[in-house]
Amino acid sequence: MIPVTTFKGRKVAIFGLGGSGLATAEALAAGGAEVTGWDDNPDSVAKAAAAGIATADLRHVEWNAFAAFVLSPGVPLTHPKPHWTVDLAHQAGVDIIGDVELFVRERRAHAPDCPFIAITGTNGKSTTTALIAHILKASGRDTQLGGNIGTAVLTLDPPKAGRFYVVECSSYQIDLAPTLDPTAGILLNLTPDHLDRHGTMQHYADIKERLVAGSGTAVVGVDDSFSSLIADRVERAGTRVVRISRRHVLADGIYAEGSSLVRAQGGTSALFADLAGIETLRGGHNAQNAAAAVAACLAVGVDDQDVVNGLESFPGLKHRMQPIAKRDEIVFVNDSKATNADAAAPALSSYERIYWIAGGLPKEGGITSLTPFFPKIVKAYLIGEAAPAFAATLGEAVPYEISGTLEKAVAHAAADAAQDHQGPAAVMLSPACASFDQYKNFEMRGDAFVGHVAALEGVTMLI
Ligand code: ADP
Repeated sequence: MIPVTTFKGRKVAIFGLGGSGLATAEALAAGGAEVTGWDDNPDSVAKAAAAGIATADLRHVEWNAFAAFVLSPGVPLTHPKPHWTVDLAHQAGVDIIGDVELFVRERRAHAPDCPFIAITGTNGKSTTTALIAHILKASGRDTQLGGNIGTAVLTLDPPKAGRFYVVECSSYQIDLAPTLDPTAGILLNLTPDHLDRHGTMQHYADIKERLVAGSGTAVVGVDDSFSSLIADRVERAGTRVVRISRRHVLADGIYAEGSSLVRAQGGTSALFADLAGIETLRGGHNAQNAAAAVAACLAVGVDDQDVVNGLESFPGLKHRMQPIAKRDEIVFVNDSKATNADAAAPALSSYERIYWIAGGLPKEGGITSLTPFFPKIVKAYLIGEAAPAFAATLGEAVPYEISGTLEKAVAHAAADAAQDHQGPAAVMLSPACASFDQYKNFEMRGDAFVGHVAALEGVTMLI
C-alpha cells in the first residue's frame, strides 16, 4: 500500500467505497489523514465501517472542513449530471480529486525521479499497459503495474528511487487528476466511447489530452484526427512528442509497416523490431499498442535490445485474443473480452482461416458490422441467446451450426479444424456478445473456454 502522506493531519471526504475507494480510504488513513467515507450503497458503507473507516452521510457534514474530496472514478463528475456530492464540494470550494491524483502527489513528494508511465486511449489500454510492464520486468526493473487495469494504484508499493510505475488511466481517472505528470504518457487513439459520461467527443478528447499535455514525453497515436491534432498542440506547447502510427509512414516517430516496427529519427529510418511470429501481438491494432510501448520504454531509458526481448516474450493478456493452445497447425484463441461486434473485429481481422465461436447475450446491432470478415470464417459455432439472430445474419454467407453451449462449440470446432489440412487455422472464441446469459462475466466464459480446450486430446497448452 502507498500511505498517502500529503494530507497528513487534514480532513478528507471520500465518496464511493467500492474496491478502489476502500483502498484509497485506507491509504489516506495510513498516511495520517482524517477520512470520512460515504457511498449510496449501504453495503459498501458497512464494509468500510467494518474496515475501520469513519463513515458519515456527506449530506449532513461540514464541507468547509475538508482539504479535499476524493471521488471514485465510477461516479459522474460532469455527465449525465454531476453527482450530488460534486455539487456540495463545488459549493464549499473543495478540490475534487481521485486516487491517481493522490498517487502523483505522493510520487512528487517522495520520489519525483522514479519513472512513471501513464497510458490512456479508447482501445488497447490494458494490452499496452501489460506489455510495458512486461518489458520493464523482463529487463530486471522493479515494476509496479496498476490503475484502471484492475489493481488500485494506491495498493501498489510506495514510490522509491529506481522503482517504475505503469498506470492505466481511464478518462474518468484523468478527469480527477489535475496534476497528472507522468515521465512518459501515452494516448493510443480516440474514437467515440462513453459519451454518455463525457457529453461530447470534444470534451472526451480534451480530458484525454490532459494526460499527454502533462507528460515529460508524450507518445501519441496519430491515426485518428483528434489524436493527431492533440500531438501537434502538445508539441507546440513545448512537450517532447513521439508520434506512433499503424497506418502511415512517419518522418519522425515509430510506425508499423506490415509486421515491422520502424523507428524514424532525424530523416533516417530503421527497422526496430519484427512482430511477425509474436503470436500475442498479432494484428494491426497490436502493432499500434507495441509501437506505443516501445516509445514509452525507450523514453524511460530501456535499451533497444531489452525492449525487443520484452516484445518477443510477451505472454499476452488473458481473454484478449490470447493464444491458449496449439494442435498441429491449429491455434486456439481466447477473445472472451470481445463483448460486442466492434471488439470482435480486431481478432477476426488478425487470422485468415477461422472456426468462430460466437454468441451469448446479444448487443444492439448484432454482427452485421462484421460482414467484411465473413469470407475468413470457415464455419461459425453459435451459442447462447444470440444464436438464432446471428444465424440469420450469417445466412448463406457462412456455414454455421447452432451449438448452444460453449462445450459443444469447442468440441465441434476442434473436430472440424482437425480435418482442415489447409494450413494454419484458428479456433477462436470471440463472442461479440455479453456473457451473462450463460456465465457470470467474460472472465468466467474465457476460463470455461480454456478448460474445454485443455480437455481436448493432443493439444499443447500455451498458458
Ligand atoms: P482497453 O483496456 O482499452 O479496453 P484492451 O487492451 O483490453 O483495451 O483490448 C480490448 C480489445 O480492444 C481487444 O481485444 C481488441 O479487440 C481491441 N483493441 C486492442 N488494442 C486496440 C487498438 N490499439 N486499437 C483498436 N482496438 C484495439
